[in-house]
Amino acid sequence: MQARNIHKRFGANMVLHGVDLDVGKGEVVVIMGPSGSGKTTLLRSLNFLEQPDSGMVRIGGIQVNITAHTPYTKRQKKDIVQIRRKSAMVFQSFNLFPHMTAIANVIEGLISVQGMPAKAAREKGLALLDRVGLAQKANDYPAHLSGGQKQRVAIARGLAMDPEVILFDEPTSALDPELRDGVLDVMRGLAQDGMTMLVVTHEVRFAKNAANRVIFMEQGAVQADCAADSFFSGQANARISQFLGQVQ
Ligand code: ADP
Repeated sequence: MQARNIHKRFGANMVLHGVDLDVGKGEVVVIMGPSGSGKTTLLRSLNFLEQPDSGMVRIGGIQVNITAHTPYTKRQKKDIVQIRRKSAMVFQSFNLFPHMTAIANVIEGLISVQGMPAKAAREKGLALLDRVGLAQKANDYPAHLSGGQKQRVAIARGLAMDPEVILFDEPTSALDPELRDGVLDVMRGLAQDGMTMLVVTHEVRFAKNAANRVIFMEQGAVQADCAADSFFSGQANARISQFLGQVQ
């Protein structure tokens, strides 16, 4: 996955100042940075939940160039649909359908977007729920699941579309501390299985033991992009050390 020179403003507020980003196949890249630095906006711009003002995004061989804040062309709309299929998004707030069981949430896209027959979709969905440790909750509704379980269902839903990359937006920050580990364990498992992941998080322990690289964002720009080891080794610049002092 590649992004080049992403710019985004909300009114007079320039939120992304020309961000470049590369995530190689099988790489796990963590984005850290203070609140308001543009992390969520960047993630949402990568699959066009926000429309960047300018820049380029390429995911799974599909490239979209934005040169002006004008309505998308037909061609861009088509490519954006492809990019969304190739990139799953896991939100802080889970975003499950409350009126659908766990398995129905997981396989909804398989049936409605991919047109997979219900039986095959159900088999795939059950295998994915098993992968996130929730096979026994397949027929439960979100209201009967803990926050951590809901997030694991959301991850299974993301995996269902066989994405090239999963974009995680603070996946554990809405969870009580005791529920975070189950979600982080699932994410570590995906990393070990070679899934390409871009993760906005403050979870230092996850970044230390699962990330290949850590990107530090501040004021809408990438201030550092380095191997996880050196990011946490204390050799990072003074500003990063100060930031880490606050989140650890
Ligand atoms: P982070 O994820 O690093 O906390 P965000 O990307 O959420 O940062 O926000 C960056 C800036 O963009 C903030 O100043 C925020 O207020 C602003 N912002 C984000 N989304 C919107 C929006 N939909 N409308 C207006 N301003 C927004």
